[in-house]
Amino acid sequence: MTLRVACIGEAMIELSLQGEAAKVGVAGDTLNTAIYLKRCATAGLSRASEISRSAGPAGQRDPHGRALPSAQETTVAEAPSSDLQVDYVTCLGDDPFSGQIRDFIAAQGIGTDAIRTIPGKSPGLYAITTTEDGERSFTYWRSAAAARDVFQTGDGYDFSVLESYDVLYLSGISLAILPQPVRLALIDWLKDASQTLVYDSNYRPRLWEDQATAQQITRAMWARADIALPSIDDEMALFDETEAQVTARAQSLPGTGALKRGPTGPLSLGDPVAQSYPPAENVIDTTAAGDSFNGGYLAALLTGEPQAAALMAGHACAARVVQHRGAIIPE
Ligand code: ADP
Repeated sequence: MTLRVACIGEAMIELSLQGEAAKVGVAGDTLNTAIYLKRCATAGLSRASEISRSAGPAGQRDPHGRALPSAQETTVAEAPSSDLQVDYVTCLGDDPFSGQIRDFIAAQGIGTDAIRTIPGKSPGLYAITTTEDGERSFTYWRSAAAARDVFQTGDGYDFSVLESYDVLYLSGISLAILPQPVRLALIDWLKDASQTLVYDSNYRPRLWEDQATAQQITRAMWARADIALPSIDDEMALFDETEAQVTARAQSLPGTGALKRGPTGPLSLGDPVAQSYPPAENVIDTTAAGDSFNGGYLAALLTGEPQAAALMAGHACAARVVQHRGAIIPE
């Protein structure tokens, strides 16, 4: 069985300024997760027959009663070339930078068929500059990015691009860049949708019109999410809560998932899991720690590994990423 996963959001052009020169890259939080999800799922395929023998969660259902794939459904023999098809869903323009983004995504083995082109539009852009004392600062040009129109058609909205997927992955950034009426229409559409919803609140205050709106949308997404992937720092900032308050609230969410807690490692949401997580030895750059955790965790969970193994897989993936510079580490 091939499980079709849509990662939805904004892929941007990244300029890393180095003296007079600039290196051009491609980045975005949900794209980072798509890349690590695809990589980890591909790497894990060789272990799938082992997993199927180790009492995977056969018949496991998400909190809305939808079937999650069992280990027994994902043996090598049954899987064609991959048991997870990962697509990226966004809008790009018809300029050369949009072409570069599309090529980059395809080169990662991620499907691009659901990426819509809007003639005359262009993608968002950000530049990274490094001060003399090594601090990095980010400047964004993204307010007119094509990705903001991902669900817009003329004067209405259309979510049918999501219909053919089994799993939808969205973040607080994917939601923040949409106009408020589109966010509300999407939440409404999700209420009746049968897809497994994965959500990471990834709070970036500058992208929201105000904190109250961010809280309203995030609450609605947590109430619907089958797999919740909050991180403690973002939730503390978004809801003005203490660590203890966030932990209690996360543990009362309806779905399964993980509360990400930096070097401490994740706290299991749903099934209780008692295990410790080794910290990374040589932390160089924590960019994309949360995104890569999500990729590693989902690759394991969606291919039938038990929650404890999925948490460890997410942590192991993120622990590798923080030992390299940049969001996407070499394969
Ligand atoms: P975010 O980037 O969303 O703020 P975190 O910083 O909580 O996310 O990191 C996500 C996950 O990455 C953590 O739960 C942990 O598993 C792993 N991680 C983060 N920092 C480290 C580290 N220094 N050593 C090992 N793992 C880490």
